[in-house]
Amino acid sequence: MPRRCRDIEDHEWVPSDNPQHVGGMVCQVCGLDPEDAAIEDYCGEPETCWHCGGDGGHHDCGEDTCCCADPEINVPCNVCGGTGEI
Ligand SMILES: [Zn+2]
Ligand SMILES: [Zn+2]
Ligand SMILES: [Zn+2]
Repeated sequence: MPRRCRDIEDHEWVPSDNPQHVGGMVCQVCGLDPEDAAIEDYCGEPETCWHCGGDGGHHDCGEDTCCCADPEINVPCNVCGGTGEI
């Protein structure tokens, strides 16, 4: 059984020796080609946004040193658009 790559970066691309795949690449870990891997990644679980850490944005009250008791997220993250997931 081929192992599954958990993350798109886990794929180790090598030239494919499959005759239907001439000139193509295949992952030597899981056996997917880049196209399947892209679909797989697209269908996978949404990932926590690397930019806001899943918060969906950050707090900005205009003060250099924020002293808000309960900082509210009022600036939506421009990477995930405020969902916290990508
Ligand atoms: Zn792989
Ligand atoms: Zn974000
Ligand atoms: Zn504040």
